[in-house]
Amino acid sequence: MTEVERRQALETIAAEIRTCTDCRLHQGRTLAVPGEGDPETEVVFVGEGPGFNEDRLGRPFVGRAGDLLVKLLAAIGWRREEVFITNVVKCRPPDNRDPLPDEIAACSKYLKRQLEVLDPAVVVTLGRYSMARFMPGARISSAHGTVRPIDPETGARSALAFAMYHPAAALRTPAIERDSYQDIGGVPAALLDARRRRETLVTETVGQLEGTGGVGPILQAVAVLEPAVEAASSIVAEPGWEEITSGDPGWDEATPQLTLF
Ligand code: URA
Repeated sequence: MTEVERRQALETIAAEIRTCTDCRLHQGRTLAVPGEGDPETEVVFVGEGPGFNEDRLGRPFVGRAGDLLVKLLAAIGWRREEVFITNVVKCRPPDNRDPLPDEIAACSKYLKRQLEVLDPAVVVTLGRYSMARFMPGARISSAHGTVRPIDPETGARSALAFAMYHPAAALRTPAIERDSYQDIGGVPAALLDARRRRETLVTETVGQLEGTGGVGPILQAVAVLEPAVEAASSIVAEPGWEEITSGDPGWDEATPQLTLF
């Protein structure tokens, strides 16, 4: 998928979200909050649901929790424009209450479609509701700062989940804020792990297909695993290939504080 196609696909989803009436939350919203960010990013942050400021502006994480998220990103040298930020539910629950199971269920199709389009390498979950989606059964007190492979059923077809506390919890509790700064420091390493995992997956898949004959299955594999294997398209045209590289100009394995994009 090209950047333009990806941008258009995300805008199509956003337009549907803005007019969605599939659960009761649409009744109280000022604006729905589909999410925003770089359509070509490798990292998606998923929060819980819009609050007061987000509902007014139609943008995610623009209040105090958003300010903290920006600071956490800055601690690893990243900017919010470089990632994609969205929520489990796209409309504000009244009085900032927790989203209810039927609201989460009604909204889940949108997050799934966004992840299918974005195809991130890492999904950073912010808080319990987001974590429950990508690390079912995990407890935030022990899972924060850890990674786990994501079920492709979520829409993220080849990604790692990285769990963090919700920034609003960090604003309330200094110890959680300290943990959050420590946790975010693990995200670049999670991204490197995720890239390696995606490469291995590609190498294995294409390796398994080698000898089965025909470019058809290989092209299919490339389509499934794109864009991690954009470099592989040239290989497909050239039988006799040995090696697949990520093709990502920002990839510098030797640098722990990585250049992301
Ligand atoms: N909290 C969230 O979970 N999401 C937002 O967009 C803002 C605050």
